[in-house]
Amino acid sequence: MLRSKTEELIRKTMARFVDNEVIPRAQEIDVKGEFPWEMFQQMAKMGVFGIRYPKERGGSGGNTTLYCIIMEELSRGLFSVAHVTGMQCLMGTNFLFHFGTEEMHKKYFLPAMRGEKIGCFCLTEPEAGSDLGNVATLAIRTNDGYIINGMKTWVSNGPVADFFTVLCQTDPAKKLRGLGFFFVPGDTPGISRSRPFDLLGTRSSKISEIAFNNCHIPPNHRLSDEGQGLNNLLSILAEIRTVTAAMAVGLGRAALHDSIKYARERAQFGKTISNYQLIQSKIGEMTVDLEASKLLTYRATHMIDEKIPCLPEASMAKYFATEAACKAGDYATRIFGAYGYSMEYTAQRYYRDNRFLLYGGGTHEVLLPNIARWAGL
Ligand SMILES: Cc1cc2nc3c(=O)[nH]c(=O)nc-3n(C[C@H](O)[C@H](O)[C@H](O)COP(=O)(O)OP(=O)(O)OC[C@H]3O[C@@H](n4cnc5c(N)ncnc54)[C@H](O)[C@@H]3O)c2cc1C
Repeated sequence: MLRSKTEELIRKTMARFVDNEVIPRAQEIDVKGEFPWEMFQQMAKMGVFGIRYPKERGGSGGNTTLYCIIMEELSRGLFSVAHVTGMQCLMGTNFLFHFGTEEMHKKYFLPAMRGEKIGCFCLTEPEAGSDLGNVATLAIRTNDGYIINGMKTWVSNGPVADFFTVLCQTDPAKKLRGLGFFFVPGDTPGISRSRPFDLLGTRSSKISEIAFNNCHIPPNHRLSDEGQGLNNLLSILAEIRTVTAAMAVGLGRAALHDSIKYARERAQFGKTISNYQLIQSKIGEMTVDLEASKLLTYRATHMIDEKIPCLPEASMAKYFATEAACKAGDYATRIFGAYGYSMEYTAQRYYRDNRFLLYGGGTHEVLLPNIARWAGL
C-alpha cells in the first residue's frame, strides 16, 4: 500500500508517537472530556497542520496521502485528537489559505500552522444539515464590507476557535448558487458561542453553536466570489470524504487490534475464546473489511494527489470504511463480552466514536443514491 519512502517514514513516525504518547493517555483524556491541548501543540511541533500546504507558504510540503496516513494513525490512538487535528489541517484553514489576503495569511494562517490559533468550518445550521441550499445565514453587502447574521451549529472546534470560515447566503433566491464563504475573526463583535455540546463520542472534541449577530467584516474577508460557495466546497469534498475514510480505517484497526488481544487472553470453557469459530469469524470479517477499506481509501488519496477527479471513489471509500468501522466497533464490544459494556475498556470508545463518521462528510442516506447514480442508475 505504501508507495514512497516518505509515506513509510511518516507512517512510522506517527505510529511511534501514537503508541508512546496517545494510546497510554487515551482513556484518561476521553473520560475527562477536555480539549486535548497538549497533543494539539505536539501536532503543531511535528508540522502536521501544514501537511497539505506547500513549504514556501508556511506548510510542510506534503500531500493528501500523507495527511490521511497521519489521520489514520491518530484515529487509531484517540479519535478526538484526529478530529480536532483534521479540522485544523483541512476545513478550518483551506479557504483562508487559498483566498485570504497576505495580511490574513500572516495574522491567522501561519499562527494556525504553529498551533497558536485555531480555525473551524461553519456549514451546518439548525434548519440546514444535508440540505445546504437551505442555508439561511445571510451576508449582506454594504458600502464597507458585509454584515453577517445567522446561526451555525455542530461547529467542531467552535468553542475554542480563533477564526471561522462561514458558508453564507448572499442571494436567497439563488439557493445553492447564492452561497459563498466568508472569513470571520473570532473577536468580531456580534459573535456568540453556546456551551460545548454533550456528545456521545469524541468526548474531547469541542463542538458548539455559533451565532452571528450583525457581524461586520471588510470586503476582503469574502473568500472567493459570491455564489462560488458550492464550487469551493466541491473542490475539497473528495478530500473531506477520503480523510473521513482514513479516520475510519484508524478506528477499525484499533478495534481489531484490541479484539485480537482480548480474544487471545480471555479463557472460557478451558480455552481462550480465540479458539471458538464464531469469534474467529468476527475477527476474519473485521480483517477483510479493513483491508478493503484501506484499498478504497488510499486509491482515493492517490487520485487526489494526482489531481484526478474522484468524488465517486472518495464517497465509496467514506461509505465502506465507515460502515466497516461501525461494524468493527460493534464486534469489539461483543468479543469483550460484558467488559465491552464497561467504560474501563476500550471497546466502548470505538463503538461510540465511530458514530461520528456516519455524519461527517455526508450521511450515507445522501451518499448512496449518488453512488448509485455514478454507477449508471
Ligand atoms: C461530531 C460532529 C461534528 C460535526 N462537525 C461539523 C463542523 O465542524 N461543521 C459543520 O458545518 N457541520 C458539522 N457537523 C454536522 C454534519 O455535517 C451534519 O450532521 C450533516 O451534514 C448532516 O446534517 P444533519 O445532522 O442536520 O442531518 P439531516 O440532514 O437533518 O438528516 C437527518 C436524517 O435524514 C437523512 N436525510 C437527509 N436528507 C436526505 C435525503 N435527501 N434522502 C435520504 N435521507 C436523507 C439523513 O441521512 C439523516 O439520516 C458535525 C456533526 C457531528 C455529529
